This record gives sequence, structure tokens and C-alpha cells, in this order.
Amino acid sequence: MSCLFCRIIAGEIPASKVYEDDRIIAFNDINPQAPLHVLIVPREHVATLNDLSAAHDGLVGEMVRRAAALAKERGYAESGFRTVFNCHEGAGQSVFHIHLHVLGGRRFSWPPG
Ligand code: 5GP
Ligand code: ZN
Repeated sequence: MSCLFCRIIAGEIPASKVYEDDRIIAFNDINPQAPLHVLIVPREHVATLNDLSAAHDGLVGEMVRRAAALAKERGYAESGFRTVFNCHEGAGQSVFHIHLHVLGGRRFSWPPG
């Protein structure tokens, strides 16, 4: 298995997990860009956002709602938090298993770099 996040899901590579259920896991980013930087990852391998189908709509909804729940747990629901899906290299995607970045605990500028 060559996909890094599939290997984390399989327990072959350790990760600092903050949430898991039967469809999703969430763990701290190894190179955090903010005091809160969690990756929400589906257990199913989907390489990019381009590979999603209507069958994934519920799963993506769960990912987004989990991001909001984790931000709320950490106290950032009202002060603000950033969620990001990067799609392909030009947007900064480096791991080709979809993941939702959840960042909080500092101010974020717009537009993003
Ligand atoms: P992308 O650049 O694909 O949007 O995001 C990939 C993220 O995965 C990066 O923020 C990077 O720091 C993180 N990452 C890469 N390798 C590992 C790892 O082995 N463990 C963890 N926890 N995060 C990783
Ligand atoms: Zn994968």
C-alpha cells in the first residue's frame, strides 16, 4: 500500500488521532500551520476532489461537520477557523488521499497564498 494516509488508517504509520469513527479519522498535522491543525480523512481512499461522486455526498458532509465540531471543541467556533481542501499540485495537494485541513488559533488572511 503506497498511500500515506491509507497507511495511517491501517495503523502502519503512527499519527496523533483526535477523532475516529467507521467512516472518518482525524489526526494532527505533522507540520502544523496554526495552533489547531487537524486533517479530517475518510477511511475510503479517494485521490482528489475530482474523484468524488454523488455517492460521497454524505461522507463529505460528515467531514465538514466534523471539522466544525473539532473547531468548536477547541474554542474556535466563534472566533473563527479555516477549512481547506487542496486539489492537485497547483493548489498545494501533496498527499493524494482527500483530506480537509482544519486550522484555528490565529488570524488567517484572504486571499490565501
Ligand atoms: P496537502 O499538502 O496534501 O494539502 O496536505 C498534506 C498534509 O499532510 C500536510 O499539511 C502535511 O504536513 C501533512 N502530512 C504529511 N505527512 C504526514 C504524516 O506522516 N503524518 C501527519 N500527521 N501529517 C502528515
Ligand atoms: Zn489512501
